Amino acid sequence: MRRGAGVGAGAAYNAAMRLRYDCSKCPGYCCSYPRIAVTERDVARLARHHGLSVEQAREKFTYRYRTKEVDERILRHRKDDVFDSVCRFLDRDTRRCTVYQARPGVCRQYPHASRCGYYEFLRFEREQQGDDEFIPNA
Ligand code: SF4
Ligand code: SF4
Repeated sequence: MRRGAGVGAGAAYNAAMRLRYDCSKCPGYCCSYPRIAVTERDVARLARHHGLSVEQAREKFTYRYRTKEVDERILRHRKDDVFDSVCRFLDRDTRRCTVYQARPGVCRQYPHASRCGYYEFLRFEREQQGDDEFIPNA
């Protein structure tokens, strides 16, 4: 997820892998995923980054999401003008991750490939519109 730009940890992901997406041109779609699960290690890293206790960080940045099928801790969201809501750590103006150095593991790994489906959709729509900044409804 979004790099120093959003879950687009993409740009810094792996120099050896030729990436076919550019998070700096994307509004951070992956950071709008409603369930961005974090581990205790992720919470501890965020706590250190903010100078908080693990308990404080867990409460402030995450909440427990539980259904019959899953029981996980996920990042809190807030309202957004581009998508319905985004991760609380996405800067809604610059569309960049504000905790890039301390972002959770899932954000570092996404999109797990040299291509990003949303980015390809975005690029196609922008070409169709002749507008490099167009943001389609996802
Ligand atoms: S921490 Fe939030 S803003 Fe940063 S990359 Fe992950 S989902 Fe995006
Ligand atoms: S949706 Fe894809 S291109 Fe956009 S920020 Fe996430 S990984 Fe990067």
